[in-house]
Amino acid sequence: MEIFKKADRLKKLPPYLFKEIDRKKAEVMAKGVDIIDLGVGDPDIPTPTHIIEALKKAVDEPENHRYPSYSGMNGFKDAVAKWYKMRFGVELDPQREVVSLIGSKEGIAHFPLAFINPGDAALVPTPAYPVYHVATLFAGGESFFMPLLEENKFLPDFDVIPDEIAQRARIMFINYPNNPTSAVADPEFFSRVVEFAKSNKILVCHDAAYTEMAFHGYRPGSFLEVEGAMDVGLEFHSLSKTYNMTGWRIGFAVGNRKAIEGLGTIKSNIDSGVFQAIQVAGIEALNGDQACVAEMIHIYERRQDLMVKGLNEAGFEVDVPKATFYLWVKVPEDYTSNGIAAALLEDAGVVVTPGTGFGEPGEGYFRIALTQKRERLAQAIERIKALAL
Ligand SMILES: *Cc1c(COP(=O)(O)O)cnc(C)c1O
Repeated sequence: MEIFKKADRLKKLPPYLFKEIDRKKAEVMAKGVDIIDLGVGDPDIPTPTHIIEALKKAVDEPENHRYPSYSGMNGFKDAVAKWYKMRFGVELDPQREVVSLIGSKEGIAHFPLAFINPGDAALVPTPAYPVYHVATLFAGGESFFMPLLEENKFLPDFDVIPDEIAQRARIMFINYPNNPTSAVADPEFFSRVVEFAKSNKILVCHDAAYTEMAFHGYRPGSFLEVEGAMDVGLEFHSLSKTYNMTGWRIGFAVGNRKAIEGLGTIKSNIDSGVFQAIQVAGIEALNGDQACVAEMIHIYERRQDLMVKGLNEAGFEVDVPKATFYLWVKVPEDYTSNGIAAALLEDAGVVVTPGTGFGEPGEGYFRIALTQKRERLAQAIERIKALAL
């Protein structure tokens, strides 16, 4: 046996989403091209000052240097419950219905270990954030993919899920506002999810990373707002996009206490919680002045307006999203997702993500992340127009 023979679960991994793009990007960069990267969904705006100041103070306190509590500081869990009540009108027991996470990706990735046995199925949307499928694989489960199609407003169609799969499924992942399609879900959809989950005994994991990033007055709801949701599921939230804190690694899960307890048991055996100084900064983010969120929204609204208009002028078909900092753009005729992404990179120095990177039904689309200043976006538009595709 070879010493470094990798475990089978690594062989089952889909190719890393940005691998091919990163390789091409390096190639184009080596030619001295000035690259405009609209690929990765990582905010370019700094974390608000009052949050940074809270961290600076907290980092000087020796009590924050020790192991934190596994499930999160009481102060942080209280802050989450307070924010949730204020934002969604849902009451949470901070001790039993909230757990802190080292970013929501961490929580989503560990969650199936608590509820999936080898051979169990999980219902996983596609195109999607890759973590749902990979987390299912790592737990020994099988993903049954639910295509998100334009004709269904990028919501899964439960009628096409075979009974046999619905009965074998233990978990369903959903994500609204959605990455990568930027689709949103209304309470009626969430009610249908509850009904489907109850009749098939499925645990619902709602990834709610983008509830705060919505435009022109639209306010996305929480899954837990709809009747019965608390009986079937939990919701993952992140401070990453709301407060420009992707590098800080802090998020939380809220919802059904058995789900929270299961996740907590996995986590207490793997990690030792979130650095307390970061949790203190998280309290400031959630319960402090929310003017920074309005400012963040305003910045993306202006970028979105500029980019949608520019793309339309360049002949691309794209809707104005109600939420998320993504644009899900239709690929022009005679191109594939990969083909257009390669052309934009090689001929215009603009990095976008091919829709197929998120799953096969992403064919026919590419994703733009509005994570560059307006001047750079305007430059990208000029270059794309010059291609005359
Ligand atoms: C960015 C993102 C997250 C959040 O990740 P963190 O680990 O909290 O930084 C989760 N889900 C989706 C769909 C995302 O796009």
